Amino acid sequence: MRAAGERLRADGAINLSRYNTGGSSGEPLIFYIGKARKSHDVGAKWRVTRWWGVDIGDPEIVVWGSPIELGTQDRVRMVRDTVLRTELLPAFEMSEANLDRFVATIRAKRPTMLFGYPSSLSLIAAHARKKGIRLDAQGIKVVFVTSERLYDEQRATITQVFGARVANGYGARDAGFIAHECPAGGMHVQAEDIIVEIVGPDGAVLPAGQAGEIVVTHTATADFPFIRYRTGDVAVMSDETCSCGRTLPLLKEIQGRTTDFVVAADGTIMHGLALIYTVRDVPGVERFKIIQHSLDHTEVLLVTTPVFNDAGADRIVKDYKARLGASVQVSLTRVDEIPREASGKFRYVVSKVQAGAPHA
Ligand SMILES: [Zn+2]
Repeated sequence: MRAAGERLRADGAINLSRYNTGGSSGEPLIFYIGKARKSHDVGAKWRVTRWWGVDIGDPEIVVWGSPIELGTQDRVRMVRDTVLRTELLPAFEMSEANLDRFVATIRAKRPTMLFGYPSSLSLIAAHARKKGIRLDAQGIKVVFVTSERLYDEQRATITQVFGARVANGYGARDAGFIAHECPAGGMHVQAEDIIVEIVGPDGAVLPAGQAGEIVVTHTATADFPFIRYRTGDVAVMSDETCSCGRTLPLLKEIQGRTTDFVVAADGTIMHGLALIYTVRDVPGVERFKIIQHSLDHTEVLLVTTPVFNDAGADRIVKDYKARLGASVQVSLTRVDEIPREASGKFRYVVSKVQAGAPHA
């Protein structure tokens, strides 16, 4: 897909939106999404939302940090927020003051549902618990989480503090709305739109019960096709039927990629995506990995093409200093290859700083 680029756009396709993603292994990918596909993904989202007894128009608080949501489309967002009764809290900067504000907003707005990264929502929950502020009688029915691996400990914290069940979703803007948890605990593939295959290292399809990489074919992507697209995540397909009675096939044991939080020099905890969005949009960056060695030093490993230039390098350094602190040393290291973690998974951001640690 990266090699074909613009040529993958269908002749006559109009109104496509441009996006970028980290791709399967830290290799940035520019891609386009048409209106048909957007509507299919939104439709899939609202169907699974209804599985949990909530619906369009129910008040919702979204803890998210994508510049697509936060930046240029403010007007669109205002209209959407008014119509859908959605309030957006920026997830990237988890300072004490922001965490206090998030907790206060949840208490004041009394949302029926929360939506966001499991890491951010469990951080808010842990903050409320630490401060002795109760959020379990606010009328929250369900907490939707997505984009990251959901750990058992996060699920337990969120459930306890918000007094609501956690519903895990698996998908991404590139791969689509792939699978979602039902109230009986099954991770149902949205099979009308998306064909999910589990493949081995040689690309051969594996039977149910065997772990392999997830590849997806999205059938609503005639404008810009996603065919057997590698997500980089590992999962096992189940051949069992869910006790809820829905016959959509089940995924189990999704091993998504992990993203660490980073810590700014002033102690603000920040979602790793805040740093990822900048680097992956710089021309000529083929692969990357961000390592926060200490509060004073963050290193970016880069595999680049000849397109990469000083302006791109300056942009990364300037943006990271603005986020992490002007005194922070930001070093860029050009490498030939970026190794995976010992677990075999790829991590875009690794932080060696413990949140709350004093300044070195
Ligand atoms: Zn089910």
